Amino acid sequence: MSTLVYEHEFKTKAFSGKTRIETGIFIDGKFSAGADGGTIDVINPTTGKLITKIAEGTRKDVDRAVVAAQKAYDTVWGTKTPGYERGKLLIRLAELIEENADELAHVETIDNGKTLRDSRGFDVVQAAAVFRYYGGWADKVEGKTIEVNPSKFAYTVHEPIGAVGCIIPWNFPLLMLSWKLGPALATGNTVVLKPSELTPLTALRVCSLINEAGFPPGVVNIVNGYGTTVGAAIAEHPHLEKVAFTGSTLVGRSIMKAAANSNLKKVTLELGGKSPNIIFNDADIGQAVKWAAFGLFFNHGQCCCAGSRIYVQSGIYDEFTKQFADHVKTLQVGDPFEESTYQGPQVSQTQQERILGYIEAGKKDGATLLVGGDRHGTEGYFVQPTVFADAKADSKVMSEEIFGPVACVSRFEDEEDIIHQANDSMYGLAAAVFSKDVTRAISVAHRLKAGTVWVNCYNQLNPQVPFGGYKASGFGRELGEYALSNFTNVKAVHINLHGTM
Ligand code: NAD
Repeated sequence: MSTLVYEHEFKTKAFSGKTRIETGIFIDGKFSAGADGGTIDVINPTTGKLITKIAEGTRKDVDRAVVAAQKAYDTVWGTKTPGYERGKLLIRLAELIEENADELAHVETIDNGKTLRDSRGFDVVQAAAVFRYYGGWADKVEGKTIEVNPSKFAYTVHEPIGAVGCIIPWNFPLLMLSWKLGPALATGNTVVLKPSELTPLTALRVCSLINEAGFPPGVVNIVNGYGTTVGAAIAEHPHLEKVAFTGSTLVGRSIMKAAANSNLKKVTLELGGKSPNIIFNDADIGQAVKWAAFGLFFNHGQCCCAGSRIYVQSGIYDEFTKQFADHVKTLQVGDPFEESTYQGPQVSQTQQERILGYIEAGKKDGATLLVGGDRHGTEGYFVQPTVFADAKADSKVMSEEIFGPVACVSRFEDEEDIIHQANDSMYGLAAAVFSKDVTRAISVAHRLKAGTVWVNCYNQLNPQVPFGGYKASGFGRELGEYALSNFTNVKAVHINLHGTM
């Protein structure tokens, strides 16, 4: 039995109701305390105060979760449950997320600090859509028949990998859970997943929904804990045959090393970014201003694909920069539960301090500060929406991922210049092009080294469309049909029709 439960009554304009979340380690369909009895404090970033405590998992808990996942794989899941049945369960989970959407959104907002408008209108809606989408795929994972000669042919089978590990970050806690569980379960794998220790609550609430949906025990196991213990144990585990990781490039490197040094498990990595947003002279300036602000300040700048390098062509540079700065000044910072709030707190004090450190570096390195540049208020982990202009290309604010509400606006002259500047980064996650000339927009999109390019928009993420990085932004694709291949082994079966040599 778990010893820990978080109970809270929310009373907002949108929702009056209770949440009750067991906050133990979820293994084999049951919650329990961690093997060493430790706990982790979960902090409300809006106030800096304690929300609740969760059980702290250890390596021993990961071992226990792996045993449960392997057993479930061998006995009730994998090839034992037909794709159609797996799909029905995933679709039921999507429905349960929708039925509990207000509660889940409120939990996400208190835990992460993101605005209720985004939790309710984006994270929860998208998570349900992702589960439903992969529910639809579960009975459509098919191989090919390949003719070799008149008496021989081969066919391929896309088999589940087995028990797999998943490690997710704090910026979209529920949504990242769905990006991992959706394709992993649709293809017949069982899972040991670690949420971020900063934002574990929606994942734990979903554990109860997983039981309610009717998934067999052990198919999904969730082990709370720190990266260096539980995360590392997943990456190193000799009986997990795959690890899917979303997080920083630094930790991504250690995951790959751990996988190489253990059982050479398969690895997919979704890592950081420093994405260029390119605005040509012929763009609709008003629209580009709004998209550029959304591209960077959405989710308080805590998006791996944030358009943090905003490049504007010389002819409209002054006008764009003025309009952009004016627009950013109108973004309201404050209580994430308030409808009028655009930006809530950063997720933690560490993140707040890290971002303020980058802002100081920007000032020191001679970038022009146009808006913001400081913390907001005295309580919680708020940072003012900040805009720098003309930062040097090799300065920290222009070249490193800040993961906060700090935009850098820079100038470019022509197409060759911008291709060079945009691609001059270790990252390659996303990019955007704003232009009314569709030929130019497409030709630039094709020359950018990025896994996603948006034309005349930003931050469009759909369950059907793959997402993932080039270069140090990682490899493997999430979402869409492509994500299924992250979680399957391809077996080729050769048939000799006549049995003769
Ligand atoms: P992080 O790398 O610090 O942590 C991510 C997860 O890894 C957490 O669960 C953490 O506990 C765990 N972890 C930490 N150290 C570990 C270790 N040594 N071994 C195993 N696991 C470990 O990242 P974060 O701060 O939670 O998230 C922000 C980062 O994630 C940013 O760099 C962002 O760009 C990236 N991100 C990328 C995508 C994408 O799809 N590419 C999406 C969201 C976030």
